[in-house]
Amino acid sequence: MTNGLNIAIVGAGIGGLSAALALSARGTNVTVFEGAESPREAGAGLSIPPNAVALLKRTSLCDDFEKITTRSLGLTLRTSRGKPVPRPPADLALLSFQVHRVELLEMLLGVLNGPVRFGHRCIAVDETETGARLSFANGMACDADVVIGADGIHSIVKREIGLTARPTSEGIVAYRGLVPAVKLSWASELRGLNMWMGDGRSFICFPVSEGRLINVVAFVPSTRDMEETWFAPGDVKALASEYEGWDAPVRDLIAALDHTFRWGIYDRPPLPYWSKGCVTLLGDAAHPMVPHFGQGAGQAIEDGFALAVLLEHARRDEISARLQAYQNLRMGRTSGVQTASRLAGRFYRSAAGNPSEQAERMREWMSAAAWIFPYDVEEAAAALLEPDRPPRQLLA
Ligand SMILES: Cc1cc2nc3c(=O)[nH]c(=O)nc-3n(C[C@H](O)[C@H](O)[C@H](O)COP(=O)(O)OP(=O)(O)OC[C@H]3O[C@@H](n4cnc5c(N)ncnc54)[C@H](O)[C@@H]3O)c2cc1C
Repeated sequence: MTNGLNIAIVGAGIGGLSAALALSARGTNVTVFEGAESPREAGAGLSIPPNAVALLKRTSLCDDFEKITTRSLGLTLRTSRGKPVPRPPADLALLSFQVHRVELLEMLLGVLNGPVRFGHRCIAVDETETGARLSFANGMACDADVVIGADGIHSIVKREIGLTARPTSEGIVAYRGLVPAVKLSWASELRGLNMWMGDGRSFICFPVSEGRLINVVAFVPSTRDMEETWFAPGDVKALASEYEGWDAPVRDLIAALDHTFRWGIYDRPPLPYWSKGCVTLLGDAAHPMVPHFGQGAGQAIEDGFALAVLLEHARRDEISARLQAYQNLRMGRTSGVQTASRLAGRFYRSAAGNPSEQAERMREWMSAAAWIFPYDVEEAAAALLEPDRPPRQLLA
């Protein structure tokens, strides 16, 4: 049974599709409009943190999710020369899952009940007497009771509700790529998240696709303005020159890359609001964050599940108030995560101190960010609607 609301989601990324999954599971009519002509993705691995894993596992995705993800077996830290940095005792990375983005998106598309319309690039959102009208570059239009902008860092929906955010370069560029595990004799021994740090750089790798591929992300300093896109090609030779003299596995992984993507890392301050009338934002459109804490997808997933709880039994005349409640619930938490992500990046790129001093600094900032993980957004959203509700056990 549906609640009669028609919800339009702009953007079929991880944020938009998880929101569609959560909303349709609670009986809401959802249509997703995606600008790309077909599911287009640059191959990349992604880490899904425990606060989001628990939500996805409550859906019809549950069993399949286990099949395409690799549970992290911890974070292994090393200096650029390969010296182990002692791991903090509370290893929260143990609870995250690594996944290939394409496999997760395909799985989300496969379980969705509602339609996903590709080739619908939204160009305008206009208020109507009963809701909002979306206009698309292909000449089509669609009316909806609620519009959710899940259209990423360069969001059009954000612009249409009067918001802009000035990006500031972090002065670094990330190279990303996937290495077939068969290319490296030691790949089968690789477990969990592995990171090397020093000289203003960091290098991360972890297995995805049941260990068949190794995801690589390399952060290097740059004074040049880089395009803020996931799809710009990078130069493997230039990448190799950044890591000369580093630990052998780092150099092996770079040498095994056929190609790489280059991604300029930009930071943005929190937005003053996310919701206006019957239009709201989620994911990177609402709270883009630097990627160093692996929470970009996690926070987008939380947004969608919060909206699903708040809109499940909403009447038309309650929509605006529910979207304000959503904004109030989410803005504080996501701006805290934006800050934690910024600090994580500074720590990884710093070379200061010996391994045990680095471990101590890591322990400090990890304890300061520990509040992010044991959080149940469905519970928090339900408590807004029923403040007297007894709390339930958090995270599965
Ligand atoms: C290829 C890629 C690699 C990434 N790698 C990492 C990583 O290594 N680490 C990390 O922390 N984060 C990474 N991210 C970011 C992370 O995935 C996001 O923070 C998170 O998934 C939330 O994304 P989102 O759904 O809000 O936005 P996105 O994943 O950007 O999805 C937005 C969707 O909206 C569509 N869209 C945009 N404009 C319009 C429009 N006008 N009309 C209709 N549709 C539109 C886009 O085509 C896209 O499908 C990556 C993102 C991408 C796309």
